[in-house]
Amino acid sequence: MAILDMRILPDPILRKQAKKVAKVTPQIKKLVENMVDTMRDQHGVGLAANQVGSLQKVAVIETPDMEEPLVLINPEVLKTDGERQVEEGCLSVPGYRGLVNRSETVRVKAMGLDGKIYRLNADELLAQALEHEIDHLNGILYIDHLVSHESLYKITYEHDYEDEDHEHDEDDSEDSVESVTAEASASED
Ligand SMILES: [Zn+2]
Repeated sequence: MAILDMRILPDPILRKQAKKVAKVTPQIKKLVENMVDTMRDQHGVGLAANQVGSLQKVAVIETPDMEEPLVLINPEVLKTDGERQVEEGCLSVPGYRGLVNRSETVRVKAMGLDGKIYRLNADELLAQALEHEIDHLNGILYIDHLVSHESLYKITYEHDYEDEDHEHDEDDSEDSVESVTAEASASED
């Protein structure tokens, strides 16, 4: 288990295009393993290789309802549908959140750790995370999708202090990091 160093804006690697992985080598497996450890350590919903200093097209996602992390090698968005506004944050842009435009549903193609290509349809938080992480691999950050210039704001840490005085409720939306809650997209389906 290894926790990798996070790359933070304005690190230029966050604006670079990652390269296609030709084959799932032991090094790629190791990278994936370390990225999963790092994502969990940072309480993130997802992590892309650029964020830990690698320009391989590799990303991992783990939403609260997943039993195991989703590994995406050479992921590609095949199709998107609809539009919605969601609140988002990024481990590489600490201290901020923003309101962004995202798709309602996405269809993605990627390779798994077994070297096989799979396709996936997603909505809600997973769709948001897929768009966010695949963007990273193309040098794009969520701040590029802001609804308006005013929709980026600093996180206030007041609630961290409040938490010490109150019972801690089981609320996943407290994890104010990488592509968090889709709370702004109120409508279902
Ligand atoms: Zn991010």
